[in-house]
Amino acid sequence: MPAVRRFIVVPATPLTWVRPPGQLAAMCDATGVSRVETLARGGKAALARALAALERTPESAETLALLDAAYGTPRAQVLGLTGPPGVGKSTLAGRLVAAFRSRGESVGVIAVDPSSRRSGGALLGDRMRLLTDPEDAGVFVRSMAARDRLGGLADITVAATVLMRALFDKVLIETVGVGQSETDVAMAADTVIFCVQPASGDSLQFMKAGIIEIPDIAVVTKADLQEPARRALADLKGALSLAAPREPEAWPVAVSAVSASRGEGIDELVASLDRRAAWLAERDRLRRARQVQAETWVVEALRARFGRVGLARAGKRGLALAPPPGASPFARVAEIAAALED
Ligand code: GDP
Repeated sequence: MPAVRRFIVVPATPLTWVRPPGQLAAMCDATGVSRVETLARGGKAALARALAALERTPESAETLALLDAAYGTPRAQVLGLTGPPGVGKSTLAGRLVAAFRSRGESVGVIAVDPSSRRSGGALLGDRMRLLTDPEDAGVFVRSMAARDRLGGLADITVAATVLMRALFDKVLIETVGVGQSETDVAMAADTVIFCVQPASGDSLQFMKAGIIEIPDIAVVTKADLQEPARRALADLKGALSLAAPREPEAWPVAVSAVSASRGEGIDELVASLDRRAAWLAERDRLRRARQVQAETWVVEALRARFGRVGLARAGKRGLALAPPPGASPFARVAEIAAALED
């Protein structure tokens, strides 16, 4: 009997915010065409150029205008895939990309490589490239080197996510991390998927001790290993039930087991992601969560640049850190930075 696919298809409805006319004008280039539209028409080459410009001149007027435009026209569901090295993230990412592509969704992948691993072994991005079809115009893969600051995210990860979020149906951010840094991906992702390897107690201990935040979806990888995977799944469910009590309104953490190398459990994981997207779309949750991300980003970016003292100085000078609702946090960071450097 052919496998029955149980997808809940969530339409990729772009969120729109009411914007003042000045802001709308800023979203267009000199010819009046939306900056995001121009970028979308330019395909992968234009996106690669825009990302290079983002890295080179993160606070130029042009970069900030593009980011503002992209921030105002989000389209993708952003997924953060995280867990320790070797857990099977890249293999799973390849499967997820294939699953999204099979239903016609476009996917942008950001693979954040910890710089310490740059010298040894394949980079995540390279491995991802091996798993995806380079001819496929619907998949874009970009790897970025992480720095120590910003908790394991590359300096431009958040900005690149916002840019790609305006262009694709799904954005997948893959980050390595053990302990706290892995949850920093929550600064950019709507949904955090945390991978646990069979027979590795550490991640579960971290979770029980409250060292890492509770993910939205927890996945035991390498389910083909049978008994250790079954035990890990039971342990994971136990760890989650011991974790801090969650509000009744909270998202019920989804737990599943996958064998990415065999392609098993992927449909179930995709179904969980669809449920999560539908949940976020209710009661204004997605917009509110993204506003919190934007505020967190302003604080983190300023802290990375000016330290705690600089942040306190911004507070003393009455500079509001939170960007106005719906406005890009990047412009806010640039404004406050300019004031602090004065
Ligand atoms: P990452 O470092 O977390 O990105 O992990 P990789 O995806 O590179 O996988 C690490 C190793 O685990 C590789 O040798 C994979 O072949 C292997 N692996 C990945 N997924 C599975 C799986 O589902 N089952 C088994 N048995 N091995 C897997």
